Amino acid sequence: SQVHNNGNSKYSDKIPKIKFTKLFINGEFVDSVSGKTFETIDPRTEEVIANIAEGDKEDVDLAVKAAREAFDHGPWPRMSGSERGRIMMKFLQLVEENIEELAALDSLDAGKLFELGKAAEIPFAFSVLRYYAGAADKIHGKTLRMANQLQGHTLHEPVGVVGHIIPWNFPIGMFLMKTSPALAAGCTMLVKPAEQSPLSALYLAHLAKLAGIPDGVINVVTGFGETAGAAISSHMDIDCVSFTGSTEVGRVVMQAAATSNLKAVSLELGGKAPLIVFDDVDVDSTINIALKGGFANKGEYCVCSSRILVQEGIYDEFVTKFALYAKGMIVGDPFDPSTHQGPQVDKQQYEKVLSYIEHGKRQGATLLTGGKPCGEKGYYIEPTIFSDVTDDMLIATDEIFGPVVSVIKFKTIEEAIAKANSTCYGLAAGIATNDLNIANTVSRSLRAGIIWINCYLAFDASCPYGGYKMSGFGREFGMEGLYKYLQVKSVVTPLHNSPW
Ligand code: NAD
Repeated sequence: SQVHNNGNSKYSDKIPKIKFTKLFINGEFVDSVSGKTFETIDPRTEEVIANIAEGDKEDVDLAVKAAREAFDHGPWPRMSGSERGRIMMKFLQLVEENIEELAALDSLDAGKLFELGKAAEIPFAFSVLRYYAGAADKIHGKTLRMANQLQGHTLHEPVGVVGHIIPWNFPIGMFLMKTSPALAAGCTMLVKPAEQSPLSALYLAHLAKLAGIPDGVINVVTGFGETAGAAISSHMDIDCVSFTGSTEVGRVVMQAAATSNLKAVSLELGGKAPLIVFDDVDVDSTINIALKGGFANKGEYCVCSSRILVQEGIYDEFVTKFALYAKGMIVGDPFDPSTHQGPQVDKQQYEKVLSYIEHGKRQGATLLTGGKPCGEKGYYIEPTIFSDVTDDMLIATDEIFGPVVSVIKFKTIEEAIAKANSTCYGLAAGIATNDLNIANTVSRSLRAGIIWINCYLAFDASCPYGGYKMSGFGREFGMEGLYKYLQVKSVVTPLHNSPW
């Protein structure tokens, strides 16, 4: 692998002008109460892109006030589902028209591949918005014939003011995945994007306003986790917090929710997904799955298959070929169409990933390829593969969130299942086999929220996804992803002449 054109002026025409740097509260871009700002950094060059308003507790209070007013008295929760859906479709049209600029903001801010973003990842996020726009008028309860001459019906009502706290690895996607079902449900909300990648959230808020989403329905408070994020999870007037991020912070968010107003919580947390490769597969095509699962988005997906379990019969062939293919990956400027892997999001992640690589070496794993930073500037790391990894090594147990894959050998199906389930996480898993019995048995035995058989990262807006174990709880996508933003109210009435 090689670095080329990192932050090269060749792609300067693709760099978007930064239009929005302030908090978005009640339909207006405003400075933070303190007047403070923070720098957002270009991971290609380590240079400052822009100074962004730094929201804190006072700003969260203002955003919650606006969202509460919009919920209690505004039109959004009161309009028909079809009218909300119509406005959401207008929002969709505007985001689609601006895909070029949106994709460029995430490439600049988070080092994401520009062409891939435009072709696949961001259109997927748009499909989520489209799905929930279509779902907005399909929210309805049940009619109940109850015992003792009672009749009941259930009303599905929006949960209220929602606080979305999101990470940096898929900024546009996270914003739309969180806001779309909440909008469809009739909630009002504030979004706190990650401090590493605030730019696209502010742009999306601007487009939401243009689409006709009323003021106060979506507010964006940029800022840090310990201040703005903590103010959301401990707020007394937020009804639900929807968090995506690390398991460590998820725990803090849940504690804050418990000790404040017992707001509803949903947590999409870390992962250490296994891809289990059985002897019967075609090795070359399975390596494509492993490359995608292990190195997509520079390993910065919570579902990345950072553990590849390979059955002993093909282990040697697999590791040799896997390393060869990974060596051929081009690491470089995410704006360059030939690049396979951009820079890690920031210095902290970059250093964390490199320190795990050192652990791997120290604990006796075999470094097959990569293992080093690359380029003179920017947070670039070579795609890295370790073999001979044992279950107790840190690279096998911890979420690294970078381009580091561990290959682990197994003999039997039972051993594969035990190893796959042996971490505290349970977000995703992959199975590569042509044997239907193995595929069915193993998929039932894995404790993870999504299982991909002979594919990886196959998402759809209709397909629920979320964690088992310490990967969290609650689901994104599908109608399950909508229910967490709804309350169910039962209304009971006696029938005529009944003894009540
Ligand atoms: P993080 O937990 O550090 O931060 C996530 C968000 O939480 C950020 O907006 C941050 O500012 C905020 N935050 C930090 N401290 C906080 C606090 N004390 N109170 C409230 N909010 C706080 O995670 P990250 O490093 O940004 O993201 C990477 C992690 O996210 C990985 O663990 C990854 O697996 C996980 N992730 C999970 C999913 C999923 O769907 N399960 C998707 C993407 C990422």
